[in-house]
Amino acid sequence: MIAFPLDEPRAEASLRVAFSGNLIDRQAETRADDAAVRALECLDARLLVLGEGRICLRIEGEDAFNPYFSRHDAEALAVRFGEAVLLGHEGGAPVLAVSSDIDPEALPKGIKAIDYRSVYIQDLIDRTALGALAQGAALVAWHQNHRFCGRCGGETEMRAGGYKRVCRACGREHFPRTDPVVIMLALRGDTCLLGRGPHFAPGAVSCLAGFVEPGETIEAAVRREIAEESSIAIGQVAYHASQPWPFPYTLMIGCYAEATSTAIVIDENELEECRWFSRAEVRLMLEDKHPEGYRVPPGGAIANILIRDWASSVS
Ligand SMILES: [Zn+2]
Repeated sequence: MIAFPLDEPRAEASLRVAFSGNLIDRQAETRADDAAVRALECLDARLLVLGEGRICLRIEGEDAFNPYFSRHDAEALAVRFGEAVLLGHEGGAPVLAVSSDIDPEALPKGIKAIDYRSVYIQDLIDRTALGALAQGAALVAWHQNHRFCGRCGGETEMRAGGYKRVCRACGREHFPRTDPVVIMLALRGDTCLLGRGPHFAPGAVSCLAGFVEPGETIEAAVRREIAEESSIAIGQVAYHASQPWPFPYTLMIGCYAEATSTAIVIDENELEECRWFSRAEVRLMLEDKHPEGYRVPPGGAIANILIRDWASSVS
């Protein structure tokens, strides 16, 4: 039996990943159809302005960025107010997300449009705002991808402040989706299994991952994905942490998995390298000191948390 890091009492690991700091009171049970329209009329409403995978940030000083705009300030950014979604309330004031058609090269002075990944890797906004961004980005992307009914092909329109679309032709209701992905660290003895995809930066390795398929449990998805990508057999699976991942609307489900075999056969369509790393090696990688230049994903990524928590647990 493997000793999983979660055998020790610890703070909720999900609170340490990026995009998890959302403090918005969603008030999901009271979302009126015109909730976003009415929220936009509040003078204290705060707006996240999003477009093409980027968020507009106001430059307020050296390395100081503010992701929130008033309705008045957002008017200069070619915002589609009619498609605003109400994320909820924070500090009693409404928080909305709106999409913008503005060219990132044509922004007013003092405003930058930064892609979501850079916003988190470069730590440009606080974790609460980053959590709101995860909610807003997922919703805005879902609306953009679901303008037509999947049943009859008719046009759909937004309801419930952005938490529903209804088909004008057949009346079918459509709700925002979240796509579950399992991401897992397979462990065997004092080693863990890491791989690199063909699109990874030089030296970068990470946990294996893949979408949960219909009719599948989290545990079954972990076993199937690891078997497909590496041919490693898995026994026990244990959940550790999750991460909202707005690319476009994924929930990463982080697990540890007990490997019951050691011989790796790589799926070359998915990975270009996959091997066992010792805990001592992983500790060097976390400090960016591995002699062969191997590196783990950046802090805030759930893969980093899975790797870090195992590396720092007692062997
Ligand atoms: Zn329809």
